[in-house]
Amino acid sequence: MGEFELIRNYFAAAPCAQGGEGVALGIGDDCALLALPPGEQLAISTDTLVAGVHFPDVCDPFLLGQRALAVSASDLAAMGARPVAFTLALTLSQVDAEWLKAFTQGLNRMAQECSLRLVGGDTTRGPLSLTLTVFGAVPAGQALTRSGAREGDLLCVGGALGDGAGALSLVLNQRIAEPSVAEPLLARYWSPQPQLALGQALRGKATAALDISDGLLADCGHIAQASGVRLVVEHERLPLSEPLLKLLDLPSARQAAVSGGDDYVLAFTLPPEHLAGLLDTGWPVQVIGRVAHGSGVALVDADGQDITPSSRGYQHFRSEP
Ligand code: ADP
Ligand code: MG
Repeated sequence: MGEFELIRNYFAAAPCAQGGEGVALGIGDDCALLALPPGEQLAISTDTLVAGVHFPDVCDPFLLGQRALAVSASDLAAMGARPVAFTLALTLSQVDAEWLKAFTQGLNRMAQECSLRLVGGDTTRGPLSLTLTVFGAVPAGQALTRSGAREGDLLCVGGALGDGAGALSLVLNQRIAEPSVAEPLLARYWSPQPQLALGQALRGKATAALDISDGLLADCGHIAQASGVRLVVEHERLPLSEPLLKLLDLPSARQAAVSGGDDYVLAFTLPPEHLAGLLDTGWPVQVIGRVAHGSGVALVDADGQDITPSSRGYQHFRSEP
């Protein structure tokens, strides 16, 4: 099977590649064309996933397709953008029809869940890696950036933390657990649910937002820096799931929550007057701290003592001391 047959059979044929709102021209030409309503801005984000770095060399292609798109769509959620389209640049070491079929099905599943249309890409030979670029739309001036946090805002998250890190130990076979514990955690890892609706609900309310991909403290550090404030995280208030607490003891679960990555839950700063309205509407919002004067991120215990760990999250190219 050549490159063009492969594109035609697997990608152009996928239900998520059949166009939709905002897509004026999809796969097949030199460029796709997107049409945004007047007054909206285009939100764009690219993520690369490399075999052996971001996912195990041997893994289920359906789950990989699903996860790859979820991780990218999470960036749209973090900006408060409405999903429109995505492109896929795929590097494959060989053409394996079964693998491609399952991968495309997983990708398609998540694309349908997120209302994202596949509008183009590139297909090359080499060590397995995927680059996805997602496009979203947001009313001009209303995107949730990292730079608007103000002293006095609450620091909130959109759900339980640490499940991604807990699951990773299962994915890598470093730990085993009974199905009632392993299954929900593995589902969180392989099929993260990008918080797209929450992100859009936070427009005009949250002062800063991002999605937690590298670990809570590391990512909150980005808000602190961009906004010129200090973020204080209260250890006791970290939301931890039941399965995580069954997999790990409390100190390890909390460590996973503050330093583990892969949660794809939104973290945002919120003026206190908006909290009740969001909770009333049923959004899974948890207050975990506050925005203070100063710089950086602090983790504090129940007595307000600073217990910030020295290692905060994952960074490529950084050599651990
Ligand atoms: P070009 O040579 O003009 O860059 P290609 O030959 O790489 O175009 O691709 C042909 C068409 O197929 C383009 O519209 C491109 O966006 C699309 N395409 C290529 N690879 C993929 C893929 N993996 N997924 C979706 N669309 C793809
Ligand atoms: Mg090309």
